[in-house]
Amino acid sequence: MEFSYDDQNIFARILRGEIPNKTVFENDHALAFHDIEPQAPVHVLVIPKGAYVSLDHFAGAATPEEQAGFMQAVAEVCRITGVDDGFRAIANTRAHGVQDVPHFHLHIIGGRHLGRMLP
Ligand code: IMP
Repeated sequence: MEFSYDDQNIFARILRGEIPNKTVFENDHALAFHDIEPQAPVHVLVIPKGAYVSLDHFAGAATPEEQAGFMQAVAEVCRITGVDDGFRAIANTRAHGVQDVPHFHLHIIGGRHLGRMLP
């Protein structure tokens, strides 16, 4: 499918420094920051700095360097937040996945037992 990126989405504005964020970790290719409406004691969003709308867009089009930078950010978020007892990583995608912000982001949620999500 074709992906169309809206550069006015709120995470694009965060990346341009137009909106503040509570940064957890940053490298050349990714930014991780606290979710504004945390669903658990740990709720961090990891986003690529490139213009990717969704996980499938990022996985299919990002360079190896961008993908490695993103995964390094995920690892650092897990280390920094200390989710040693476990966590959930969620990438809501488009309408069926109830994605609100059209810039790829991975939710890292933890700090408490999250219950079973799938049957
Ligand atoms: P989605 O449904 O996966 O797209 O979730 C978007 C997430 O972005 C939600 O959990 C929101 O609480 C979060 N969010 C929206 N605006 C901001 C912001 O300005 N800073 C941090 N998180 C935000």
